[in-house]
Amino acid sequence: MFISVIPALKMPFGHCFFDYEISEGEAHIGDLILVPFRNQMIAGLVAKKSPKSAWADKAIKISNPRKIAKLPESIADFCIISARESFVSPPTMLNAWLRKIPKRFSGETHISLRNTTLPKDAKKNEVRYLVNRYVGALGIIETVTTNQANGRVLLLTPWKHRVEFLSTKLGAPSLHKDIAYGEAWRIWMNFLNNPHGILIATRLGAWLSIIADVVILDEPENDDFKQDELTPRYDARRIVKLAYDFNPSMRIISIGTTPNLADFAENAHLASMSPTIDSDIEFARLDTMNRSPLEMLTNEAFTAMEEAVLNKNPIRILHTVLGMRGRVRCADCDWLMECASCKIGLRNMQNHALCPRCENKTELPMSCPRCGSTNLSKAIIGSEGLLKICMANFPNADIKVLDLHEWVTQPIQQNSLLIITNIAYIGGYVEDIRKQERLVLAFRRFASQACVAKCKLIFQGLSPLIDIAPSWLEPQGLAKQWELEIKDRQEFLYPPTQKICKLIQIGKSEHANMIKLKLEEICVKNPDWRFRGPYPIERFAKTREPRSIFHILPSKTATRTDLINELSVLTAYGIVDLDPIAFFC
Ligand SMILES: [Zn+2]
Ligand SMILES: [Zn+2]
Repeated sequence: MFISVIPALKMPFGHCFFDYEISEGEAHIGDLILVPFRNQMIAGLVAKKSPKSAWADKAIKISNPRKIAKLPESIADFCIISARESFVSPPTMLNAWLRKIPKRFSGETHISLRNTTLPKDAKKNEVRYLVNRYVGALGIIETVTTNQANGRVLLLTPWKHRVEFLSTKLGAPSLHKDIAYGEAWRIWMNFLNNPHGILIATRLGAWLSIIADVVILDEPENDDFKQDELTPRYDARRIVKLAYDFNPSMRIISIGTTPNLADFAENAHLASMSPTIDSDIEFARLDTMNRSPLEMLTNEAFTAMEEAVLNKNPIRILHTVLGMRGRVRCADCDWLMECASCKIGLRNMQNHALCPRCENKTELPMSCPRCGSTNLSKAIIGSEGLLKICMANFPNADIKVLDLHEWVTQPIQQNSLLIITNIAYIGGYVEDIRKQERLVLAFRRFASQACVAKCKLIFQGLSPLIDIAPSWLEPQGLAKQWELEIKDRQEFLYPPTQKICKLIQIGKSEHANMIKLKLEEICVKNPDWRFRGPYPIERFAKTREPRSIFHILPSKTATRTDLINELSVLTAYGIVDLDPIAFFC
């Protein structure tokens, strides 16, 4: 008997199996076993069994292979298809799933026992939109605990800090990238062994949906479910969908706050399902007439701060400009200090000037080299500068100025005053066609958070954004905004109206010409396909190599398999992404 095994090792695209001959004992499809490989024993997944092998004379003979775990048979095909979609080899995908494999195993074979019941009237794929996604009969906490009776529950959430929060609330184990490998292995083995287990994980636990009975997606509208830097780049939401096709007993329950544009385009009714967010929110116009004594803060914000200080409530300000000042600019003659190599304005960091692109540090000048003025403060204030003036005005108050990352990762205390200095920046910094969509999603998330934590929230901003934003709190306004967005995307040929695959070429831009030739060939073969690019992407920091981006626009009728078949050849030249979440990075 021959078996084809997917080894848990990083291997180039195109590699798939290693064949072994079993002389004694047995192995089944889906078994995770130890196999000899280049003088060591490694873990491998049995993907096929056959009396014959094309590599029979080369196949290593093994007897009574050591079994680590018995996984469902379908895991082999699930791994192969997930790998194909991400344009990596199945061994690389398996390696990314299992991560570091322990040197020693306990004696027993772990078996994924099932004890699944489908509750009456339960939908196989259910979508919920809630302001408070945690508490209440439909919220995550109760959904997890009630579904535990029906089988194994896997809760997937976009961020590590959210995993930890939910893990504490539920008293259940968590899995994310900072959990040591040995411990992570033990955690998922326990999940496998317990037919009513609960596991809370970031995207790296998404593959476990193949052994779960109920998969709960927290905030499915959030793009952080996508691994978008390293390879394999996969989207946890897509992995769950694939597992759904292989795992007949599985149910998906998505619990979000706002349908994203792609989901809305598929089903416009979702907008009306999204809740009205009714909380204490004020909108304040950033204009010269509305300036408070504190730079960057409006009269509304200032008054609310006075009140919060009086009531001893914490004040949290979201301000995305770092340092003392966004730039070093002369207030008298408008001179701007630039990076010598990047020719862009430097950030004022109190003790030095910093180039936001190449991260080079330069000494701050004492005075303007052009006019001699010592007032170099004509630039937007930075977070450090803002905190300084707030503390000077409200000494002893509990005030923090946070950037977007800190804002998203820190828990919000009840009854805080939350101030967003400029609503335009809450969606992140990536400048592309999806900017507005991210902003609307973030806006509704911020508003929901404030509602749940009973906080007062002030959005500052410029027209027209600050005028239109209040309408997004209501389903009708949201639907209207999404319709406008879809029109825009139609015009510029972007998803969801046009399918786009992205190709990222890293390193020397000369290689882009080679890719262009390949893409032209593909478009000759498929006359209704198009491509655009290369778009050169400037470096963000020292550590990042230059990149070029291509967009491939297949025909409407092209299936996923067509895309995979046509685009596989491009993996030799760059990273192919079938479902990009950003188009120019
Ligand atoms: Zn000057
Ligand atoms: Zn620079």
